[in-house]
Amino acid sequence: MGFSFYNTLTRQKQPFNPINEKKAGFYGCGPTVYNYAHIGNLRAYVHHDILVRSLRRAGYDVNHVMNITDVGHLSDDADGGDDKMVKSAEERGKSVLEIADFYTQAFFNDTERMNITKPTIVCKATDHIAEMINLMKRIEKNGFTYLAGGNLYFDISKFPSYGDLALLKLDDKKAGAQTEFARIEHDENKRNAGDFVLWFTKSKFENQALMWDSPWGRGYPGWHIECSAMSIKYLGEQFDIHCGGIDHIPVHHTNEIAQSEAATGKKPWVNYWLHNEFLVLDKEKISKSSGNFLTLQSLVDEGFDPLDYRYFLLGGHYRSQLQFSFESLQGAKNSRKSLIEKVKNLSEKASHKDTEAQRTQSEEEEKEGEIAKYIERFNNAIEDDLNTPRALAELWGLLKECPATEETLAAVFDMDKVLGLGLEEAVKNSNTIEDIEFAEEIEALIKKRAEAKKAKDFAAADNIRQNLKDRGIILEDGPAGTSYKRM
Ligand code: AMP
Ligand code: ZN
Repeated sequence: MGFSFYNTLTRQKQPFNPINEKKAGFYGCGPTVYNYAHIGNLRAYVHHDILVRSLRRAGYDVNHVMNITDVGHLSDDADGGDDKMVKSAEERGKSVLEIADFYTQAFFNDTERMNITKPTIVCKATDHIAEMINLMKRIEKNGFTYLAGGNLYFDISKFPSYGDLALLKLDDKKAGAQTEFARIEHDENKRNAGDFVLWFTKSKFENQALMWDSPWGRGYPGWHIECSAMSIKYLGEQFDIHCGGIDHIPVHHTNEIAQSEAATGKKPWVNYWLHNEFLVLDKEKISKSSGNFLTLQSLVDEGFDPLDYRYFLLGGHYRSQLQFSFESLQGAKNSRKSLIEKVKNLSEKASHKDTEAQRTQSEEEEKEGEIAKYIERFNNAIEDDLNTPRALAELWGLLKECPATEETLAAVFDMDKVLGLGLEEAVKNSNTIEDIEFAEEIEALIKKRAEAKKAKDFAAADNIRQNLKDRGIILEDGPAGTSYKRM
């Protein structure tokens, strides 16, 4: 059947035809590292992970590039509000670089715990200022920029297809009336409301920590240029797939396209745009900048395993809004637990060869056909715009309907190459139900210890640590909270 993806650019599901056969160049917008990732952000990265795992399992050589935004992202995705990094550094009494390092580490700690594959290339914005300056020079040379009030602006009226991705109307953009552009902070230097800053020299933030020399004066880049510059550097002037949350469609990705195509003159810059819908909490967007948000660690503190949250996310299609609640997360936890039990059971039974020996050849063939049917249906679900809920259902069907053989077990592990639920590891480590319950007990004790520390009851906290040590468990306190390992 082959993959087909819903492409935001065309508002259609389209067969996936990469530029180079069996290769895929993929850029996913990474985190702005001014705070912990919230669980909504992690939905975006699980989506990227499912895409990468699915393509790789199908034999594609995937070059996955992700940026780390450590400069230039304002609290509004356009040119309004505070600089997220500077504000966070000031609030915490640290330098911008310290903040960036700390939250980058915390981010990868979260993604690792969720079994999210690390991108092939992770690139920091502050390491690529020269590439950004070069790209801006090309955009300037091609006549798409103007200087005003000390800043270098992109002139959207020079780029006729501006806003096509978001189906924006150019007249609205020029006038700054209605639509998306009404909310852009007024800037008297701008010729059109939708114009955006490529390079700031007259910093609106007096305490701007990081500045670089450029042909337009000493300053720092706007947020969007980093993604154009780094994706072009690592994936070429035209590449296959670009992802991000739906919030990126009207401003960030729209501006990325304008910059990249204005610089190279090649169109389309990216062939497939995949956007994940939001995870919502009580019908509200979960926002990092609102300060009050759920992190992966906060779910762990409530006794959940990071993979429970992964399982919960797979239960919704990435293009549907997903409502978070602890009740639903509990449901996912229960399902994952019984999934692991079933797979372990299967593994134990499959290793008893005598049951297999009793089967006749025709029975054997019939059962193998049954397994192949489930794998095919699983593949169809994944190839059909990464339909993880359907894929999960096929995994459950396989476990229910197919015999307890090595072939069935191999099919389960093969499906899990996409789902990433760590099933093979769970069997290999031969965690029994008692092990899972022990893990839950440890998590509960970690939570109790955190509460004791908060209440300054250090004796109780030390007691818990010692108690666990006596049982062979070492606690480790890190930026994203407490984790544990066996001695
Ligand atoms: P940021 O660190 O704010 O740049 O966001 C990182 C990624 O998370 C981006 O792809 C966003 O589009 C995505 N994102 C932000 N909020 C949510 C949410 N509530 N649900 C799903 N994805 C989100
Ligand atoms: Zn980006």
